[in-house]
Amino acid sequence: MNLIKSSAPQPIAMGLHNIAYSYRSTLLAGAVTLGLVFAFTPRLLQDAPPTGHSSILPLALSTAQAADIRSANVATAMMRSAERWISVKIQPGDRLAQVFKQAGLDTQQLNKVLALGGEAAKLARLYPGKTLKIKMGAEGRLQELLYNITPTRTLHIKEQGDAASFMANTVEHPLERRIARAAGTISSSLYLAGQKAGLPDALTMEMANIFGWDIDFATDVQRGDNFTVLYEEFYAQGEKVRAGEILAAEFTNGDKTLQAIRFNDGKGHASYYTPDGMGMRKAFLRTPVEFSRISSGFSLGRRHPILNHIRSHKGVDYAAPTGTPVKAAGDGTVSFAGNKSGYGKTVILQHGKQYSTLYAHLSRYPEGLNEGDRVEQGQVIGYVGQSGLATGPHLHYEFRVNDQHRNPLTIKLTQAEPIPSQEKSEFAREAKTLMDQLTAFKRTLTARTP
Ligand SMILES: [Zn+2]
Repeated sequence: MNLIKSSAPQPIAMGLHNIAYSYRSTLLAGAVTLGLVFAFTPRLLQDAPPTGHSSILPLALSTAQAADIRSANVATAMMRSAERWISVKIQPGDRLAQVFKQAGLDTQQLNKVLALGGEAAKLARLYPGKTLKIKMGAEGRLQELLYNITPTRTLHIKEQGDAASFMANTVEHPLERRIARAAGTISSSLYLAGQKAGLPDALTMEMANIFGWDIDFATDVQRGDNFTVLYEEFYAQGEKVRAGEILAAEFTNGDKTLQAIRFNDGKGHASYYTPDGMGMRKAFLRTPVEFSRISSGFSLGRRHPILNHIRSHKGVDYAAPTGTPVKAAGDGTVSFAGNKSGYGKTVILQHGKQYSTLYAHLSRYPEGLNEGDRVEQGQVIGYVGQSGLATGPHLHYEFRVNDQHRNPLTIKLTQAEPIPSQEKSEFAREAKTLMDQLTAFKRTLTARTP
């Protein structure tokens, strides 16, 4: 473990203040010897009660002034003086007992802390990379302990009375939502351009899903295509916890520019719309599986003049590893699920009267999938395999309109529903706000690169 941050002793009385001073000079000397920079500010000398999210630690505020105390001697020297906060960064294999021992804390206190149970039980197994903050009293007495169970929850243990007992509680830190922006131009792949733009991989995938109805990201994307994205980020205690959803995005593919805005319909259902309120989502997914490549395209074929047999491929083959989930291309009903000679394990979905889709060579079906079941678009209806006549794992996918095979790669997908009329004004307001922000962001980009 490393004792990474440290504040000066807290002057609680005149006498102690003097001690604190002399201690400070000793430490400074030590720090200089170690080649460390250790600055003190009055703020560091103040104690703040760990309640509410603005909380806690003078330490948390003082990263810049904090020294990297790795020397056991310096650390031990600190232990002997009056009360102060220390911060311990957990290393692999660290246990609380070691932390207590190295910090010079009383082991009887350790037992009391571990005996608290409840959330305090989390201290029995410390996670590397996390930080323990300990407020020490004189003679190695534990006064308080803080441990971030998650970025939004901190375990707080505080001594009761005269260190005879401890009390544990959890402090919740509210998540703060911020809007982040990213922009990129594709030179080799969308994935890499997303990374370069600082967009989390999951959101790059999400962007491909949002525009995937209109752009085939496997075949259509070209060098120079570019994107701009506004998305959510959530922070707790000033630190980024995770990314949220894409709020607005623009994608330019060749000479075609598409825009999408996320809108929550008030029934807790969010989806993406064009700025004029048309659904981005179509009645059918362009591709029902995440694939690595199209291993065989669609061809109706014709009769071979000599051999007199027909070579056709009435679907598309998507090469993908065995076990890759296969999704229902649209809302519908399972009209067939079972073995179909050369097709192997096969699922057929009926979508309304006109449309049906077929998924073949599956390795298995999801548990509980039966003929007659209603399925929703995107629902997993099978897993890629190579059952039937298949030379390798792939999904064979067919799309039929009125029982006629159509090319799933080129068929014009019908539009899903637009914004309901009663939500239109609300949507228009939100769309304008987001599009204004997106435009403003793009302006700063062009200003930077003339
Ligand atoms: Zn095929």
